[in-house]
Amino acid sequence: MESTARILVFGEDSKFLRKYGINFCVFPISNIFELDHAEIVYFDKGKFVAVYAADHHSYACLAYKTDEKKFFSTKPKAEFEMQFKDLGWEVPQLISAMKNSNACYFNSIAQVRMPKWSKRNVALIGDAAHAASGMGTSLAMVGAYVLAKEIEATNGEYNIAFERYENSMRKFVEDAQDLAESNHQLLSGKDSSIGTMFQIYMMKILPKKFIQVITKRGRERMREVANALILESET
Ligand SMILES: Cc1cc2nc3c(=O)[nH]c(=O)nc-3n(C[C@H](O)[C@H](O)[C@H](O)COP(=O)(O)OP(=O)(O)OC[C@H]3O[C@@H](n4cnc5c(N)ncnc54)[C@H](O)[C@@H]3O)c2cc1C
Repeated sequence: MESTARILVFGEDSKFLRKYGINFCVFPISNIFELDHAEIVYFDKGKFVAVYAADHHSYACLAYKTDEKKFFSTKPKAEFEMQFKDLGWEVPQLISAMKNSNACYFNSIAQVRMPKWSKRNVALIGDAAHAASGMGTSLAMVGAYVLAKEIEATNGEYNIAFERYENSMRKFVEDAQDLAESNHQLLSGKDSSIGTMFQIYMMKILPKKFIQVITKRGRERMREVANALILESET
């Protein structure tokens, strides 16, 4: 989501970066839950744990809220171990996998929110324009496709193409960012509705089959947002 082009053309990052004060790490694990294109999410003591698998790859993600707006620890593994040391469930096993992994990715969650994605002869796509922390790959690929189509359709009249690109993409992107943001707020403790608390409680006590039923509604909303933009096919 860092972009030198964005800084040079649109100005300082502070205008566009929305930080959530949530540090996370992602690392590969063995498929201990026998998941297949599915994810299990666990909350406890303000900490978030997700385990997911697709196409013979499975990963764990650990996240926690911090007052710091930037991830600064020089010993991130030790930091995560300390943050998650009191948690039950499968967390000790996951911490041990993190410690033994040489493929951990550490960062803190942020979004890029810009009022406009183009200026003069520069248009941004993907994370540089609208990092979301959720569905970013789809947004980046769809944006590249839409922009390329519009440049072709307008015969290189890039000002018109940029406008059309923005008009096609804006709602699609913002719905995805809003959805991701509501998930961040769950972790940062800003969503304390009874429904959410009940959901978190049930996740702690129910067996994994039932958890999959509970998370179905969230997946349906994600599918709705992800499929909201219909692309024109090649002629
Ligand atoms: C750990 C992790 C897990 C993720 N999981 C998911 C997920 O499950 N689903 C999902 O949809 N998204 C996920 N994302 C987000 C997704 O990876 C991004 O949203 C997506 O890659 C953005 O695509 P992009 O093309 O905008 O940027 P990038 O994929 O970052 O591509 C930018 C490219 O530009 C190159 N580059 C940078 N500067 C220069 C330069 N000066 N000259 C030449 N090349 C340059 C970089 O090396 C890079 O290859 C995840 C991200 C992370 C970090």
